[in-house]
Amino acid sequence: MNGFINKQSLNNLSKKYAITLDEQALERFDIYAWKLVSWNKKVNLTSIIEPEDIVVKHFVDSLTVFHALNIPKGSKVIDVGTGAGFPGLAMLIARPDLNLTLLDSTGKKLNVIADILTNIGLEAQLLHARAEVAATKEEYREQFDFVTARAVANLRELSEYCLPFIKEGGFFISMKASKAKEEIDGARKAIKILGGEIFSIKSFELEGAGERNIIITRKISQTSTKYPRPSAKIAKNPLI
Ligand code: SAM
Repeated sequence: MNGFINKQSLNNLSKKYAITLDEQALERFDIYAWKLVSWNKKVNLTSIIEPEDIVVKHFVDSLTVFHALNIPKGSKVIDVGTGAGFPGLAMLIARPDLNLTLLDSTGKKLNVIADILTNIGLEAQLLHARAEVAATKEEYREQFDFVTARAVANLRELSEYCLPFIKEGGFFISMKASKAKEEIDGARKAIKILGGEIFSIKSFELEGAGERNIIITRKISQTSTKYPRPSAKIAKNPLI
């Protein structure tokens, strides 16, 4: 179906965050939105199903990653807990040069993403795994330039899932709505133990959708092989 979303609106809003989308990207977002809503009848993907809400709260929200940080051409990126592809798949549509891995513990969601990728003609690696398990494997550990995560866990827990994937000098990009300051305060110690340091926090209002905070952590040294621990341990014995 063509013309499901208002492409002009997506284009204009993206420009406000200095993100340029070409006609092919706008076309791909249109297919993505339509497929998302169609699949959502069978697989529980999102409560956001109105076309303009999808544009703002999923697409533009995901694309603000590029507003917060420069991501060089060809960077190796993993989106942890990608769900229906946010922010990772939206980033790939805007920047098909990225070498992207989409990770989620729910196979059904990755099957939907596989179908969307086929329909929009783009490629990404799909990884069906729990983050804390994949991050212990040599092929994924300290292999990525950037890790992204939106709405997956609190920053302290999330840091233990995400920091082990990043190469030294790489970045962990965590997307939060409100209460970011409290989360950062609660996660500082864990981030340090895991080999990271808070690099920057970009706070802004997303067009009519409320407060957003993009917390960027830089990996400054290798993560000890003690981490990540199994999820039950992460929850029971937080790094504080
Ligand atoms: N990031 C997407 C977004 O912003 O729309 C999805 C958010 S959804 C609330 C959280 C997703 O993280 C779910 O798809 C869930 O399966 C996944 N998830 C949660 N914990 C995980 C873990 N430890 N490893 C892998 N995936 C995880």
